[in-house]
Amino acid sequence: MIIIIFFSVYKIIYLFAIVFLILGGGFGCAYATGMMSEDTIAAVATPAGEGGIGIVRISGSAAFAVANRVFRAADGRSMELRDGQTFAYGSFVNERGELIDAGLALVMRGPRSFTGEDTVELQGHGGSVVLRAVLRAALEAGARSAEPGEFSRRAFLNGRMDLTQAEGLFDLIRARSDRAARAAVEQLEGGLRRTFDALYDSFLEVTANLETTLDFVEDELPDDVFSGIALKLDGSLGELEELLATWNEGRLLRDGVRVAILGRPNAGKSTLLNRLLGYERAIVSEVAGTTRDTIEESWLLKGVPLRLTDTAGLRETACDVEAEGIRRAVAHGEAAELIVYVLDASEPLSEEDRNRLAVLPMERTVVVLNKMDLGRRVEGVEGVEVSLLEGGELRELKEALTKRLEMGTEGTTQALISERHRALLLEAEREVRAARELLREHVEQQAVLACDHLRSALEKLGEVTGRVYHEELLDNIFSRFCIGK
Ligand code: GDP
Repeated sequence: MIIIIFFSVYKIIYLFAIVFLILGGGFGCAYATGMMSEDTIAAVATPAGEGGIGIVRISGSAAFAVANRVFRAADGRSMELRDGQTFAYGSFVNERGELIDAGLALVMRGPRSFTGEDTVELQGHGGSVVLRAVLRAALEAGARSAEPGEFSRRAFLNGRMDLTQAEGLFDLIRARSDRAARAAVEQLEGGLRRTFDALYDSFLEVTANLETTLDFVEDELPDDVFSGIALKLDGSLGELEELLATWNEGRLLRDGVRVAILGRPNAGKSTLLNRLLGYERAIVSEVAGTTRDTIEESWLLKGVPLRLTDTAGLRETACDVEAEGIRRAVAHGEAAELIVYVLDASEPLSEEDRNRLAVLPMERTVVVLNKMDLGRRVEGVEGVEVSLLEGGELRELKEALTKRLEMGTEGTTQALISERHRALLLEAEREVRAARELLREHVEQQAVLACDHLRSALEKLGEVTGRVYHEELLDNIFSRFCIGK
């Protein structure tokens, strides 16, 4: 009897939860929507330094009132009388009526603005003193200084974008290559949001299907009901895994790939660095042990940002400075995503090289057989044959590096998940697998537990886009943004 009551209560709770979910509610919070913040914020939105134009952005319920006090329109009309998405010419003044600058005011009426609130962008000349004075005037007129990322946070809270789009914006600003920028803009345009929403919906549907089975007495259930649900779950799990597989590429595009150039002294490491960069960055010398510290430079390979490090040559040495350089070289090799090991192929394989090659992680190593112009004497080692002193494009070497990076082709514009998304996806995957395991048993009690797991998975997926959010999550995401964004 107690058990029956327990299950009935459980079912009722579940039914409520599912109705909530289907209505798009998520857990705790849906994507927040449309509200004008009482607090009006202002910040300089353009980078510090000198520029043709500089912008002070004002957003919130009093944005127009604040702008009216800072901006005197040449046509004398106040902000309230203007249409949204229009601009006016005029001058910027402080509270004492002193002239600061002349420029434009861009008027955007909420919700048709970046933040979703009434917004005015004051566009003046891009000097730091001028912009600070315009900002000070806006603060004196009643605005508050914006926190880092606060405009974007408001855009999220007002339903203008989800968290993946906000993160895409952050990535776009920070992009170090065209390819990274393309992936970021795809994310900003909602590429990742749509994928996550579709995934969320498919798990929601399975959860709802499973939920309905709880209403049946066990022997009333059709035999194949659980296997049908399990099949759907497998399909959604496959989609989840496809998404997880985009993490590596996303990480490399966002953070850059660390590449350590290792090898014995005089193998041609500095020459390789210079050849890849296209200019003489490192000192090339016949004297072994010239590079004693590490040199790091950025380089783009098929749109992927690489951080190349030329290291001290690896060899036994009595010199303390050289030994420290070698210690750092080994540490760089261990931390790097990719190791380029340069060998002087014109000599037979040394004991030192043999030992190093035996312990290198080959799945992330490209061996370069250099000095082929002197004839190949090294044996038993596979690698890309080059002669770095001679010209040429090093095409084969670049292809070998690209292959090791396991990147998709350069033309793809797929949105790629980040570390935060991956962590949540892995947790969701664990929950779904637990549910899947329980469904093997084809019993109703197990279905109740499986529903529990699926709800946890949905919660994790909801956190990615912001269907489910908490202040700490928003702080983590938006505090990384600059002030004014
Ligand atoms: P590292 O100590 O490994 O950085 O080696 P370097 O780049 O300083 O090169 C050592 C010496 O080898 C220099 O004199 C280079 O000019 C020479 N070298 C580099 N690459 C080649 C090559 O392909 N052929 C020949 N013959 N010499 C090379």
